[in-house]
Amino acid sequence: MESIKDKEFSMQKKKLLESWITEGIIDKDDKLLINVFLKVKREDFVIKEYRDFSYADTALPFIKEATISQPTVIMMMLKNLNLTKGSKVLEIGTGSGYQTAMIALIAEKVISIEIDKDVFETAKKNLAKFKARNIKLVLGDGKNGFKEEAPFDRIIINAACEEIPKNLLKQLKNNGVLVAPVGKPYQSLIVAKKNNSKISFEEKFSHGLIFSDLR
Ligand code: SAH
Repeated sequence: MESIKDKEFSMQKKKLLESWITEGIIDKDDKLLINVFLKVKREDFVIKEYRDFSYADTALPFIKEATISQPTVIMMMLKNLNLTKGSKVLEIGTGSGYQTAMIALIAEKVISIEIDKDVFETAKKNLAKFKARNIKLVLGDGKNGFKEEAPFDRIIINAACEEIPKNLLKQLKNNGVLVAPVGKPYQSLIVAKKNNSKISFEEKFSHGLIFSDLR
């Protein structure tokens, strides 16, 4: 049975969705993104102490220096990533695994790399409960990408870069899309697209984002 808390969470989720549609952050017909947001429970990824704040539209402390990203920022990034059912995705900075879970519900496969061992182990536990078979978690430095599975249709970086690591641009497929927060101390969302081996960059949400640094 749905508890009072669950009801409260679903109301808060609906409110967030409405605000994103009103503000044009997502499209009202974007069933894929709306469904994954409704389906994945952020409360299952948030640490116990912050569970009540699962749908506060802020980043929340996770373990060590990792944070669980702000829902609005995740939606902005996922919208720009333009996932399709067939996408093979590389994610850098697994964190809690919340965004990984959402990607896995849309895409064909997601390989997610986390540099911190404790964060990696916690994400693994979180995602084991989620039971998606198309997620591969890797402990390592995401700046190198993941040659074994390259090239990728989509690449998403979850930590602030001074510039987008070259290896990641190399491992992007033709017609592929990469999104990353770039800049210091505030980041812009950069959307990189590869066409005929040429890369074009577009800047979105200029200097409006705050991510922890890519190590
Ligand atoms: N979207 C995630 C937030 C991730 S926070 C969520 O909602 O849970 C950013 C993560 O990137 C942190 O866990 C940090 O340890 C990791 N990270 C930083 N530099 C990295 C690197 N070079 N390779 C892989 N992971 C990295």
